Amino acid sequence: MATNRTFTMLKPDAVEKGHIGAILEKISASGFRIVAMKLTQMTKADAEAFYAIHNERPFFGELVEYMTRGPIVAAILEKDNAVEDFRTLIGATNPADAAEGTIRKMYAVSISENAVHGSDSDGNAAIESAFHFSGREMF
Ligand code: GDP
Ligand code: MG
Repeated sequence: MATNRTFTMLKPDAVEKGHIGAILEKISASGFRIVAMKLTQMTKADAEAFYAIHNERPFFGELVEYMTRGPIVAAILEKDNAVEDFRTLIGATNPADAAEGTIRKMYAVSISENAVHGSDSDGNAAIESAFHFSGREMF
């Protein structure tokens, strides 16, 4: 059954550049309600576990280094068709391929430093949300 929640992170590059406010504004204006949110920093072990599906990829070490180098904003978002609609809002992994007006087109620097994460399925949205938040932090 499709759920109405997805999980996002504003990644270290977006936080470093001061884009938190602009990106959250765009997310809210696109009809997503914030269910949970915090500024946090992933440890190496956190990032290796969160991105375990990519651990055989050549860029895995670089990905872990990038995702742990500074704080991120982790959030759970609610909207009808949340997972798919949020992936549309953020755009393609590589900002060079992302549609005009998408968050990655506007704020990402490269395929590696691409500003924002969005869950790719309802199952992963639930797993990733539970990775970062306890039930008491969801509203
Ligand atoms: P996403 O679901 O659109 O975030 O993309 P993937 O699940 O394929 O990859 C996860 C993350 O790994 C991306 O968001 C990028 O930060 C990073 N990444 C993906 N592909 C590459 C790549 O070819 N090179 C590097 N350096 N990083 C990548
Ligand atoms: Mg992915």
